[in-house]
This record gives sequence, structure tokens and C-alpha cells, in this order.
Amino acid sequence: MTKELLFIPGPVAVSHEVLAAQARPLIDHRGPQFTRLLQNVTQRLQPIFGTTQEVVILGCSGTGGLEAGVTNLFSPGDKLLACPVGVFGQRLVRIARAFGCQVEEVQTKAGAALDERELASRLRNDVEGSIRGILLTHNETSTGVENDMAAISAAIGEHPALRLVDSVSGLGASEFKMDDWDFDVVVSASQKVLAAPPGLSMIAVSERAWTLIQNSQTPRFYFDLRKAREFAQDGQTPWTPPVSVVFALEVALSRYEEQGPQNVWRRHEAYAGAIAAAVEAIGLQLFSQPGAHSRTVVAIETPQTVDAQRLLQTLRQSWGVVLSPGQQELQGKIIRMGTMGDLSRSDVIGALGALEKTLFDQHQGTNLGAGVEAATRSFSASDAAKRDDGPKSDSKVGAQTTAAFR
Ligand code: PMP
Repeated sequence: MTKELLFIPGPVAVSHEVLAAQARPLIDHRGPQFTRLLQNVTQRLQPIFGTTQEVVILGCSGTGGLEAGVTNLFSPGDKLLACPVGVFGQRLVRIARAFGCQVEEVQTKAGAALDERELASRLRNDVEGSIRGILLTHNETSTGVENDMAAISAAIGEHPALRLVDSVSGLGASEFKMDDWDFDVVVSASQKVLAAPPGLSMIAVSERAWTLIQNSQTPRFYFDLRKAREFAQDGQTPWTPPVSVVFALEVALSRYEEQGPQNVWRRHEAYAGAIAAAVEAIGLQLFSQPGAHSRTVVAIETPQTVDAQRLLQTLRQSWGVVLSPGQQELQGKIIRMGTMGDLSRSDVIGALGALEKTLFDQHQGTNLGAGVEAATRSFSASDAAKRDDGPKSDSKVGAQTTAAFR
């Protein structure tokens, strides 16, 4: 079988060490070894969420985690304000409606980030405080857009609504400060930035949300966070967990820590920056608006002369490079290239070379090699920026390098 380089925005390429962890003999999920494992993993997730609150893990994909968030926080009839900026934000709206919530949406043009002033103005008009919850997306994987969560948090201010955040494809790739930003439930998943296999959703819950969860009238069973918490106190999960994926996540967390969060943030930014530079040099455009570019997935507009489906097929079949198509109305209009996972710079350069050549063969671009050259220059520039950074706090470095790319 040809080796495939996975540049899709999840599930991502997983390192050999992490994959090997899954081959360990299984252990009793009600025994002391699993208790140590679970406690270890959930504690090490806390700084990544930026919380001192408990983090629970559920045996499901990210969507299950989002369903857990909705059903545990809200009751049928609750008024929610959703801020979708793409397909995954819309999925969150659909989950909330499926469980009987009344959802109003703040509209955003595809490719743009949420305008926090619009959110602030809608909340200001809610003088009677009837909005019970706010549904947010940190990183919108369908459009390659990252929202500014600090600005959103400031825009919400003192409004009493509960804040549910989908950070499935964002968490870990930049500094996240759940406690400081006053978010109530933040949901992520194992197969994205943390570069473990799919199968686990990680959920952080604020202190006030843990209290309010008792009041939710929504029926729930498998995803009852009260049960998850009760069992977590004994180092267990209520139902049989995907033990092998937890082994893998433990090793993935070690790799994350060994690299250091700042270097992981820089890596994602550098890869996204190199891809963006190549895209421009080839003569294509990013789909996301300036200032809104995601660092974990780059959405690239495909010109009308290029058949996106054929492009992706050739990349996969001739080069073993796998990218994602646009979803729903963006199908045929964009392609998406992820930066998450166990990918090296040479993987990025190789994938961009394959993309450039395939586009060239499909009569797009005249200067073959310009994309790869731009990407290598971009990598050199991010190395220089890192050298100039000097010793700084995490947040400053994050803010600076973000400003450079975004
Ligand atoms: N939200 C976002 C932002 C995502 O990127 C994804 C997965 N692509 C999901 C939710 C759904 O996660 P899962 O596929 O793990 O259910």
C-alpha cells in the first residue's frame, strides 16, 4: 500500500510512539492501573484548556462531546444565541434544536470570523437576560477560520448566559484560557491537535456549570456528565472506555509536553503560514478573510478552471497526499489542508510540491516551484522570528507570532 501523508484536518497523522501505545495489553478499566492512567491524563489536560476545573473524557468523537455539553447545560425551551461561522457551528445549532432549545443565530459571512461587536450588541439588547446560553466555535474547520476567543469573552462580559465552546479543532494549537475567559463548557477531541487516534472527547466544565448541570431537564443517559464526574472521582468512567485510545492519548500528551506548548503553537502557525505563502505564490487565494485565518486548517479557493475533486484524487493517487474537499455549499469551491498531527516541515514542503505540480498539470500557475520556494522562505522567516522572540511569557509569544501570521 502506498504511504499516505494525511493533511486532512482530522483524524491526523499519529506518531509511531502514540500508535504503539495502542498495542499494549488491555487492562481492567475498574482496576488501579486505569485509575492512575485516567487521573494522569485528565490532570495533564487541564493546562491545555487553561483551567483548574475537572476535565472529563467520554468515549465518543467530538460531536458526542458537543451533545453532552448541550444536554447537560440546557433544557427544552431554553433560548440560546448561536454564533456559527461554518458547518460545525451549524452542527452545534442542530444539536441544540434536536433537544428542543430555541436557537437564534448571529449571522456571519462564510470565511469571516465572528464579529464580536455584533455579539455584544445582541447581548446588550437582552435587557431581561432571557438568553440562557451562547454557542461558540473556537476554530471552524469547514472554512479555515479561527475566532478570537479572548475578544469574544470580553464581548460577552457580564451577561449571565452559559458559554459552550466547540474547540474540537482548536484546543492545543494556541493558548487557551478557559477560566480567565469565563467559558463554561469547552469540548475537544483526541484526533486533532493532540495527535492521538479518534475515540475520545475531552470536556472541561466550569464550577458554575457543574452546579447548573443538576438543573437540566433534558433527558440524557450515556452522556450524563454528572455520572462522568461521579465515576471520575474514583478514577473511572461510567461505561467501558476505549482503553487503548487512552493509552495513546497519554503518550500524545507526553509528546506535547516534551515539545512545549509554545513550540506546538509556533509549529501550527509556521505550517499554516508556509501553506498560505505557497498558495499566494501559486496564484490562488485563501478562503478565510485576513485576520481570521486558522492555524490548524488552511482553506484554499479552487479557481473555476480547476476541478477540485480531480485535483484531490490525483494528489491522493499519484502522490499519496491527502487533503480534504469543501463541505456542503463549499464543495468544489475550496480544498482544505490541515496542519495538525505528526507532520514534519519536509512533509509540508513535499505536499505543497505535489499540490503545485498537480495544479500546474491542470493549467493553474505558470511558475512551477514558486509555491515551494515561498513556503521555504516562510519557514526561514518563522525561524528568524523565533530567534528574535527571546524569553517571554507564553501569552506574549502566542500573541506576537499570531499577529505575524494573521
Ligand atoms: N467541531 C469541529 C470544529 C470539528 O472540526 C469537528 C470535526 N471535524 C467536529 C466538531 C466534530 O467532531 P467529530 O468528527 O470528532 O465528531
